[in-house]
Order: sequence, then structure tokens, then C-alpha cells
Amino acid sequence: MREKLESVLMRIHNAAKGCGRDPDSVHLVAVGKTIPANRILEAVEAGVLILGESYVQEAREKANVLSAAPVSWHLIGHLQSNKAKYAVKLFDLIHTVDNIKLAVELDRQAGKINKIQEILIQVNIARESTKSGALPEDVPDLVNFISRLKQIRLRGLMTIPPFFDMPEMAKPFFAALRNLRDQLQKEAPPDVAPYDLSMGMSGDFETAIYEGATLVRIGTAIFGERQ
Ligand SMILES: *Cc1c(COP(=O)(O)O)cnc(C)c1O
Repeated sequence: MREKLESVLMRIHNAAKGCGRDPDSVHLVAVGKTIPANRILEAVEAGVLILGESYVQEAREKANVLSAAPVSWHLIGHLQSNKAKYAVKLFDLIHTVDNIKLAVELDRQAGKINKIQEILIQVNIARESTKSGALPEDVPDLVNFISRLKQIRLRGLMTIPPFFDMPEMAKPFFAALRNLRDQLQKEAPPDVAPYDLSMGMSGDFETAIYEGATLVRIGTAIFGERQ
């Protein structure tokens, strides 16, 4: 696992350098869904700083075991409003906000624990009926709405493009998310302008970095195939 992690970190570094970006502007989110806590701990000891989990309950169980680990927790899976209460207690960044109802509930629950919850808006950039995420044309209104919520801070956008065997095929979708982010930045005051782009997984993270990713979510390339 250490070797795989080293290799991923090196590939991130090289991809950033290769397109003239500062390698420190790209952060690895190590995706631990279905991976047992002891292996996650190994990854943290090897230098992983951010853990991505898809399911709130699974993350809560692992966080109990790993409570001493100096690591930041990100939620990268779909979140239902009724789990918002648990999500705000655990996650430093929630990548998957895609509707007003969820944003309102996160705002309310974060308020209860005096937290400013950082979030990303998940965008269904390829308009796939099977995927969650806000449609691109609905994002500006959602951003406006969220900007009025006191306990929530919007940090950027996230997307999961369609799956392709050739990572190059995902390029237009990554570029579309970056363009949407750039458009929102022009419209928003600088202090609240969304900046981060969560995009790229094991099969396509280098392409995503070329298109501006600041958070890459990588599981298989670090931990091997999931069971
Ligand atoms: C599982 C998952 C990943 C990681 O996928 P790999 O192909 O294993 O790197 C990234 N993002 C999301 C949203 C996921 O659910």
C-alpha cells in the first residue's frame, strides 16, 4: 500500500508540474469506502491527510476507531437530509450538496453545534439520469441561495463524469466543471467565490489535474480493488 500511495503522490506531483501548476494546489483525498479501519490507519501513517468516505454510517464507525488519527474527513457520497445531523459532526468538507433542502438542513444542524460547515456543490455535468448532482443551469441559483446561509461556506464544485476506459474522454466534462467554476467566480464577491474543483478518480486523475482539479478522490490506485 505504501508503494502504491507513493506512486499516486508522485503521479499527482508530475501531472501538476506537467501543466504548469503548483503541486501543492492539488490535494489527495484517499477514498476508504469498504476498506477496513486498520488499512486506513496504515495509509494515514504513510502520510495521507484527507480521507474520503461515501457512507455516513461507515465513516462514523471508522472515525470511532481512528479518532486519534490526525486526518481530515470528507464526505464524497450522496447525503440524505436525515443524516445531515451526523454528517456535520464528522466531516470537514461535504462534497455532495446538490439541493436547497439539504443545504438548509446542513445549515440548521451546523448551527446547533456552532460550526461553519464547508461544502462543495455536486454537479451532474453530463446530465446523466442515474447520477445525483445539480444540473449545471441550476447551480448559479443554488450558489446564491447558499450564500445566504450563515453556517455554510461554499468552497467549490464536485463532479463524477461518465466512466470511460480512456481517461482523455472525460476531459470535456472536467473542463465544463472548471468553466462553470470560473463563471461563478466572476459573479460572486471574492471572499465567497467558489474555488475548489473535486474531480478525478483512480482512472482519470491526471486528466482532471490538467483541467484544474484541486481535490482528487482516489481509492483503487491506493488500496487495490474493493471487495
Ligand atoms: C469510490 C469513489 C471514488 C474512488 O474511486 P476509485 O476509482 O477507486 O479511485 C471517487 N469518488 C467517488 C464519489 C467515489 O464514490
